[in-house]
Amino acid sequence: MNRVGTGVADSVRVSVVQDNPPSVPDFTQWPSFPFEGDLRVKQLDDPVPLEPPRRGEGNRECTACNAPDEAYIWVGERWRVRAMDRPTGLPMVLILESRSHLDLGDLPNLLAAELGVMTVRLERAIRSLDGVARVHVNRWGDGSAHLHMWFLARPYGRLQLRGTFLSLWDSILPPISESQWRENLALVAAWLAEFGGRPLAEPPRIQWQAPSSLSASPTESAEPAADEEPASVIEAAEEIPEPEGLSASEAEQSKAEHPPAG
Ligand SMILES: [Zn+2]
Repeated sequence: MNRVGTGVADSVRVSVVQDNPPSVPDFTQWPSFPFEGDLRVKQLDDPVPLEPPRRGEGNRECTACNAPDEAYIWVGERWRVRAMDRPTGLPMVLILESRSHLDLGDLPNLLAAELGVMTVRLERAIRSLDGVARVHVNRWGDGSAHLHMWFLARPYGRLQLRGTFLSLWDSILPPISESQWRENLALVAAWLAEFGGRPLAEPPRIQWQAPSSLSASPTESAEPAADEEPASVIEAAEEIPEPEGLSASEAEQSKAEHPPAG
C-alpha cells in the first residue's frame, strides 16, 4: 500500500477491505517526519482485558526508588534530575523525578506546585545552553509508575526537528560529543543548584594526557548509568512486557541492543 498521504479518493477508501490497514496519514508527508518511502500502518493487536503492571507497580521493582543519588545530575529534598547513560542526538535530554513513589495524578498539592516550579526552572536551564532553541516537556508514564517528566532540547535552526517527532530524531541523529554532553549536564546541574539542592554532574576535566590515555581518566562523573536505564527517550517509551505477554512483533522489537526500559 503505497498510497501515502494526501489525495486518497473516496473510491479508494471504499475499496479497502477489512484486513487492510487504514491509509497512511498526512503527517508522513511533513518535513518533520523522519522517514520516507513506502509506509504501511500496522495492524492493531486486540486490546488486552487487563494491562500488565508498569515498573514500580504490582510486584515489579521501581527503578527510580532503587536508584542512588549518584545516578542523578542534581538532587534536592523532593526532586531529582537525571540524564541518559550516554549522549544522544539532541543537545540535552533530561528526566525530572519526584523522590516519592507517586504518579502525576497522585501528587499532593505541595509537590504539584513544586512540579510547576521545577518544570519552569529546568526549561530555562536547558534553554540557556548554547544552540538550544526550544525545550519540549513530556510525560508519558506507560513504562514506569514513578512520576518522570521528559525534557527534550531541540537544536537551534533545525526546523525539521520541530514538534512531536523530536523524540524519534533523538535516536536518529548522531550522538553529540561526550565532552559537550558532560559540559551541558554540568551547566544545567549548576543552574538548578542556584536554587538549592546538590549538583552531581561536573564539567569534563581538562585532559592533560595524550589522547591514548584518555580512556583511563578516573574522573568520570555525571554517570547516571544504571544497567536498566533507557538509552534514549524513544527506547524508554517502548515498554517491553514480561516474556509471557510478549507478542511476536514485540519480541522482534526487544532484540534491540539495549535492555528494555521505560
Ligand atoms: Zn518509585
